[in-house]
Amino acid sequence: MHTPREMPECAETRSEKKQSGKKAMSSADGHWLAAAPAGRLLRYNRSDSARASASPGRIASAGCRRMPRPDPFEPQSLRELRSSLLRWYDEKGRELPWRKTRDPYRVWVSEIMLQQTRVSAVVPRYERFLGRFPSLETLAAARPAAVLAEWSGLGYYRRARNLHRAAKAITRAGRYPATARDWRQLPGVGRYTAAAIASIAFDEPAAVVDGNVERVLRRMLGAIDRKREAWSAAGELMDRARPGDFNQAMMELGATVCLPGAPRCTECPIRKFCRTRGRGTARSGKPRLKKYVCYGLATRRGSVLLVRRSPTESLMPGMWELPALDPPSTGPRLATVRHSITLTDYTATLVAHSGRPSGRARWARISRLDRLPLTGVTKKILKKAGIIE
Ligand code: SF4
Repeated sequence: MHTPREMPECAETRSEKKQSGKKAMSSADGHWLAAAPAGRLLRYNRSDSARASASPGRIASAGCRRMPRPDPFEPQSLRELRSSLLRWYDEKGRELPWRKTRDPYRVWVSEIMLQQTRVSAVVPRYERFLGRFPSLETLAAARPAAVLAEWSGLGYYRRARNLHRAAKAITRAGRYPATARDWRQLPGVGRYTAAAIASIAFDEPAAVVDGNVERVLRRMLGAIDRKREAWSAAGELMDRARPGDFNQAMMELGATVCLPGAPRCTECPIRKFCRTRGRGTARSGKPRLKKYVCYGLATRRGSVLLVRRSPTESLMPGMWELPALDPPSTGPRLATVRHSITLTDYTATLVAHSGRPSGRARWARISRLDRLPLTGVTKKILKKAGIIE
C-alpha cells in the first residue's frame, strides 16, 4: 500500500512545498492538496481515486478533501488577485524609461515602438527618438524623411509614418484624445494601443489584450477560445483604481514569468487562481524561413550608391538600401550580417560593386546617411563594413 509520502509529486508542487511550507497547496490537476489529520500531505487525483475504488487499499486517498481553485471572478478573489499582481509589479516590474512618465506623448511613442518590437530593442531607440523629437510639436513639424531616418532599424516603417500623421492631427486638434475611443481615430492606433495609452496616461479603466496578456488569461482561466473572450475577461479583472499599472502588470507577467515555452509558475503572483499552470499550453511556433541576399557596395568621393525602394512597395516603401545583386556576385566579401524580419531570417552579404546610378539609384553623401531613411539591413551591413558608425 502506498503511503501519501510515497506518491510522486510534480516539480512545481515540490518547489511550492519548499517555498511555502503551508499545509494546503495545489496539485497539478487543478485541485488542492489537503492536510491529513495526522499532518501528512495527501494528494487528490481523479484517476487515483478511480483506481482506489477499483482496488481497495491500493491508494491512501481516504480522508482527502477536494478543494477547487478559487474562482478569480468572485469578489474576494478578484480583490486578492489584483492586489497580489500589483504588489508583484511594484516590487518586480522592470524599470523601463516609459514607465517613469504619464506624459501622453511619451506613452504614445513607447506604445507605437513596442508594437511588434522587443523591449530590449526599443529601450535605446526610445530615448534617442525623444532626443530628436522631444515634443509633439517637433514631431509634427518634422519632415517625413527625418522621422523615417530616426526610425531606421526598428522595422515596420508604417508605424513611423502613422505616428507622424497622427502627430499632425493632434496638433491640428489642439489637444490629445482623452479616451481610448478617441485615440482609436488616429492612424496607427488600434484597440490595444488605444487602451494602453488611455489607461496609462489618462487613468481610463480600459483593459488591454496583447499576445502576452492573452497567454496569461488563456492559462489562468483554462477556457478561453476566442480573442473576444480574452478582452472580456481582461475587462472584468481590471483594477479600476490603478488601470494603467494593472495593464502593465499583466503584460509584464506574460513577458517575464508566464513565458510562451516554459512558464515560471513558482514565481507567479496569481498562481493560486491558475487553472492550468502552463500544462498543455506550450506554443508550437511557426517555422522560420531562411533567405540569402547579396548587396553591392560602390563608393565614390565620400558617397555611396543607394537605391530608393518604390513608394508602392508593401514593405519599407520609399526607403533607401544598397543595390541588391541578382545573381549574387562571387567577388570578395566585405561583410556578412544576419537580420530577421517577421518570420524570415536573412543572411546578407556585402561585396564590392562597380555600380553606376540607374533608375532609382543615387550617390548619397556618407556623412549625411544618418538623415536618410535607410532600411534596417542596409544600416546594419554598412556599420559592419565600417562605412558608418
Ligand atoms: S505563470 Fe503559471 S501559474 Fe502563472 S498564469 Fe502562467 S501558467 Fe498560470
